[in-house]
Amino acid sequence: MSFIRRGEKAAVLQVLYKRDGPRCCWCERKLLPLDSLPKISSGNLPVNYPTIDHLIPQCMGGPHLMFNYKVSCPKCNSTRHKEEDGVKSQNGNRN
Ligand SMILES: [Zn+2]
Repeated sequence: MSFIRRGEKAAVLQVLYKRDGPRCCWCERKLLPLDSLPKISSGNLPVNYPTIDHLIPQCMGGPHLMFNYKVSCPKCNSTRHKEEDGVKSQNGNRN
């Protein structure tokens, strides 16, 4: 699903933690420190597990660049994606 490979993901998270701090960019929940992240395959992440979110979602052509990345908790990450998947029609740009 994500184009960020495993190693890159850790590197991106490290940069984001330095830039924005170890918290969710949406709800400001404090997230786990990177050096003690449990290895979990996606699907069953703890609420304070850092995930990489996109300001402009990939499905809308968001670039794979640092400025488009944000750290968020799994909850905000999946909530936002659900909204962007359809239901919301504020920019009415669906064909
Ligand atoms: Zn959050």
